[in-house]
Amino acid sequence: MSQLEKADTLVIGSGPGGYAAAVRSAQLGMKTIIIERGQIGGVCTNVGCIPSKALIAEAHRYDSRRLWSRSDALDSFTDAQAFKQAVVTKQSSGVRYLLQTAGVTVLEGEASLIDEHTAKIKQSESEQQISFNNAILATGSRPIELRALPFGERILSSTEALALTHIPTSLVVIGGGYIGIELGQMFAKFGCKVTILEGGRQVLPGFEADLVAPVIKQMNADGITVITEATAVKAEQDADGLNLYYVKNDDQFSVRAEYALVTVGRRPNTDGSLGLERIGLPITSRGLIDTDEQCRTAIPHIFAIGDITDGPALAHKASYEAKVAAEAIAGQSSVVDYKAIPLVVFSEPELASVGLSETECKARAIPVVVGKSSFGINGRALALKAAEGFVKVIADSESGIVLGAQLVGAEASTLISELALAIEMGATVEDLTMTIHPHPTLGEVIMEAAGNAATKYLKNKNN
Ligand code: FAD
Repeated sequence: MSQLEKADTLVIGSGPGGYAAAVRSAQLGMKTIIIERGQIGGVCTNVGCIPSKALIAEAHRYDSRRLWSRSDALDSFTDAQAFKQAVVTKQSSGVRYLLQTAGVTVLEGEASLIDEHTAKIKQSESEQQISFNNAILATGSRPIELRALPFGERILSSTEALALTHIPTSLVVIGGGYIGIELGQMFAKFGCKVTILEGGRQVLPGFEADLVAPVIKQMNADGITVITEATAVKAEQDADGLNLYYVKNDDQFSVRAEYALVTVGRRPNTDGSLGLERIGLPITSRGLIDTDEQCRTAIPHIFAIGDITDGPALAHKASYEAKVAAEAIAGQSSVVDYKAIPLVVFSEPELASVGLSETECKARAIPVVVGKSSFGINGRALALKAAEGFVKVIADSESGIVLGAQLVGAEASTLISELALAIEMGATVEDLTMTIHPHPTLGEVIMEAAGNAATKYLKNKNN
């Protein structure tokens, strides 16, 4: 065991949670060490957000050329993989640069907690100990493996699917959440025959049906078969592919494909050698760590952020919590406020939501006004041949304050930020509709939807 290093803040894991926490901690003047056992940048940079979006962008570029020959698809996919790798490498170096310039010490190896103030790092041939005043756990998550469909040659997790060196002729995706839909559509655009099996009644179960409908329409146009209320039960693999068996309405069916991609969720990395039980830090039945509004665990100088805590497993949720945790360690009064976390699906068309939906407002008995406007009457959307979709803005009917918004359509991933800001600042629908939006832009759809909600709100108020 080599000598003891000392840190004011020790961060375990360098994903969007860990690196953002380390940078903020160092900026606040604390001696900060970050430990990473895999690749700097974590899941998001290396096997998640960034590579998936690089391949999705390439799929759109390929699809727009409408070449559709198998050899073209194979060549284009090889180019797409090279492009993806270049993007990942640049992004990962960018994270390393951010850490270095902030003055964070980066140590590579697997961290285990020995006691409440000491961790050890296992490196290839040595071990090192670190003592810390405070720790931020940001160890992230990994794909859930189904017992009946263990990952292997023909059964892939998102990590292996993103690394495929050729475009499969056919793919069955198990799980119609956002990762399954994004990757399914990406492969379909390269000419792969995709079938999506979803256990629930609708793919993208977290979103309202009217929002998902344009995505389903496009998936049909992409030749994707979607089978809902279907449970995958087993696979028979052979040299060329697999027969995937599933049950729907008590009957068993099968689908043949070159590969199966299992995207049924992610499991937090709170088990194994991390050593939570050694320091007496409990985890929930879902393997998560409970935290308070400053991301503090049951052990007050140990914080937990990102995919290992409750809430949506998203990069921007992790990096938001990161800042709060680092600032709390520095003695600041920062607390989390989750009312405006945007959720985005990089499908075609894109889908985004922030704050409360109409259904959630109803369930909470909040009286609301809803304004809607369509991309079909927006000049910029028409010019971009992207007229599919709409924006829905939901506001409190008594105050006009924006409570939530949902978008489906081109650039929804970018447009949602205006609505997140509106919620964050307590803006009203009148504020949104009186904000001058440049013409012709897609953002005008937000202004129109807010205007429709404002008309209803004012009518209510004057009655
Ligand atoms: P992670 O990014 O999981 O990083 C944790 C790091 O900790 C890992 O690098 C791991 O090696 C390291 N680690 C674990 N244990 C130890 C240990 N004991 N010692 C040292 N190091 C350790 N989110 C979005 O917001 N937008 C998207 O578009 C999006 N797309 C995605 C697409 C895919 C295919 C996938 C799989 C995920 C996607 N996500 C997306 C989710 C996003 O990647 C995660 O929410 C995010 O990475 C979580 O960040 P984190 O910091 O909690 O952990």
